[in-house]
Amino acid sequence: MEPEKLEYFRTLLQERLEEILGEADKTRNDMTGVTAPFPDPTDRATLETDRNFVLRIRDRERRLISKIREALDRIDAGTYGYCELCGSEISVKRLKARPVTTMCIACKSREEALERARGQ
Ligand SMILES: [Zn+2]
Repeated sequence: MEPEKLEYFRTLLQERLEEILGEADKTRNDMTGVTAPFPDPTDRATLETDRNFVLRIRDRERRLISKIREALDRIDAGTYGYCELCGSEISVKRLKARPVTTMCIACKSREEALERARGQ
């Protein structure tokens, strides 16, 4: 991939990372606000649901953060934009839609078909 394109995706990924980290901070702050005991059991149940919801979001954020960091590592290593399975170049259009992708569209489709076949 040309250096200008790599820099484009590096900026894109870094911005995305900062955005998520900013939101993660916000989520943490929201969570520290709910430690006060609630006398009403209904409130407590709502609180538990909220907490589970927040934890699920944070789990998804964590996974996305590590994917973005891996993508940035690949940019440094010069392997960014190449399919990890077949080694062919991933189209810029696909990378723009999903900058953390590690597979070309053909391999990804095959992977998804296999997963469906396995009943996942
Ligand atoms: Zn491929």
